[in-house]
Amino acid sequence: MRDAEIGEILVQADELQRRVRALGAEISADYEGRQLLLVCVLKGAVFFLSDLMRQLQIPCEVDFMAVASYGDSTDSSGVVRILKDLDAPIEGRDVLIVEDIVDSGLTLKYLLRNLAARRPASLEVCALLTKPERRKAQIDAKYIGFEIPNRFVIGYGLDHAERHRNLPFVAALTNE
Ligand code: 5GP
Repeated sequence: MRDAEIGEILVQADELQRRVRALGAEISADYEGRQLLLVCVLKGAVFFLSDLMRQLQIPCEVDFMAVASYGDSTDSSGVVRILKDLDAPIEGRDVLIVEDIVDSGLTLKYLLRNLAARRPASLEVCALLTKPERRKAQIDAKYIGFEIPNRFVIGYGLDHAERHRNLPFVAALTNE
């Protein structure tokens, strides 16, 4: 029996894989001849990152950051705190932030400002999902997987109270 929290499927597993392949090709072309540092925001983006990275045809490395997000609730506090910082400096590096979802945009706004202050050679964003209706901060994400409606979603890395990250598709949470 399907878990009662798992609602309507918004992005199917095969659509995710097709889009990730296309993003990988686009990023590989854009960064040809350069070495890319992917900055993955824990924990939700890990699944997207590992699929995306395997589609890249250029030399690349990965580092991880953790920031405080929603906890067990489904709405943003707007307060962003670094729980784990990068292992290495990014000065002079081509940096691509890999995010699971842009909701209000407040987390990314903070991350962009924080990482830009470390003087990377370039700094761009690749987000799997975006909810444009919810935007509070203006964010220019160069690479976007899918625009989704204003629903709280789970699966493909995204959790609700730490569960459902392992679903191969993206679904709405029931009883949001
Ligand atoms: P923002 O700062 O853009 O409002 O929120 C960004 C973070 O909130 C995301 O990285 C993610 O951790 C969390 N988030 C936003 N929307 C959702 C959602 O629909 N589902 C889940 N599981 N997390 C979300």
